[in-house]
Amino acid sequence: MTDAATGAAPRVTVLASVNMDLVGTAAHLPRAGETVLGDGFAMIPGGKGANQAVAAARAGAACTAIAAVGDDAFASPLLDGLAAAGVDTALVRTAPGPSGVALIAVDTAGENQILVASGANATLTDLTDAETAAITAADALVCQLETPMPAVVAAARAAHRAQVRVIVNAAPARDLPDELREAIDLLIVNRGEAEQIAGAPEAATEDLLDALVALVPRVVVTLGAGGAVYADRDGARIEVAAPVIEAVDTTAAGDAFVGALTVAWLEDRGIADALRWACAAGAACATAFGAASSLPERAAIDEMYDRSAP
Ligand code: ADP
Repeated sequence: MTDAATGAAPRVTVLASVNMDLVGTAAHLPRAGETVLGDGFAMIPGGKGANQAVAAARAGAACTAIAAVGDDAFASPLLDGLAAAGVDTALVRTAPGPSGVALIAVDTAGENQILVASGANATLTDLTDAETAAITAADALVCQLETPMPAVVAAARAAHRAQVRVIVNAAPARDLPDELREAIDLLIVNRGEAEQIAGAPEAATEDLLDALVALVPRVVVTLGAGGAVYADRDGARIEVAAPVIEAVDTTAAGDAFVGALTVAWLEDRGIADALRWACAAGAACATAFGAASSLPERAAIDEMYDRSAP
């Protein structure tokens, strides 16, 4: 496979949603039919997939994105954001029509309203031969569920057949088709997603882990400031505390976690240590404002990891 023996960077291919986040702030959120005059605006490259690709690249992966942008004015800044982080964008498709856009309104209390127009992401329904080759040549495939399920299933199956590790962040939560479940090596979800997929609202964490390892061989549930828990079919249960930090913005903390855990797992650090490093990445991300901009570089993850040594 990779890395530990050769020292080469692990190769990670991300089937990625890519969105431009258009964020407006106002004293209160508009009701249906209401126009509210806002007081601030920012345009921020986002999408869980793009964030996870950037997170993996910053954590040390040689990362390739399989994604689609539109033929509009957002395409260039979206591609530039990925490339600036070192993500290979050679395979990113340009689809006629708009790029994915998230229209986000935030009020002074921090409440938000989000409308996602999937745009080009919705065209990613199947894979080209070149895209499949980028998956089978990798050490791991990372998917989220913001792109159409048929291509997620095709990508996971191609990776599984080629013995490439399949990591799925099931966000937003949806039922996992059997064909996808059977190809997954590691499922990563937050608590809310775990409850939805297990069909067990407010279940104890132990029960959620039991329900999820019945579906996939290994699962991680992230618990925000509570850290993360891991379970597998060999009966392992590992709990990792999050570093204690002054959180300023937890946006994209989950994406930082996914990128870092993927890299550490491929570096054969052992799952407990990989989880600690991923928690350090999530915490480092939460200490800075922003989404992609706050995803930590490897050195920042190491620093947080060292600071939080048990
Ligand atoms: P998501 O953003 O997907 O809901 P979480 O909120 O569970 O994911 O955060 C992912 C990881 O980021 C957590 O497992 C933890 O390691 C880290 N993290 C998030 N929020 C905090 C926090 N307030 N303090 C410390 N670590 C945090």
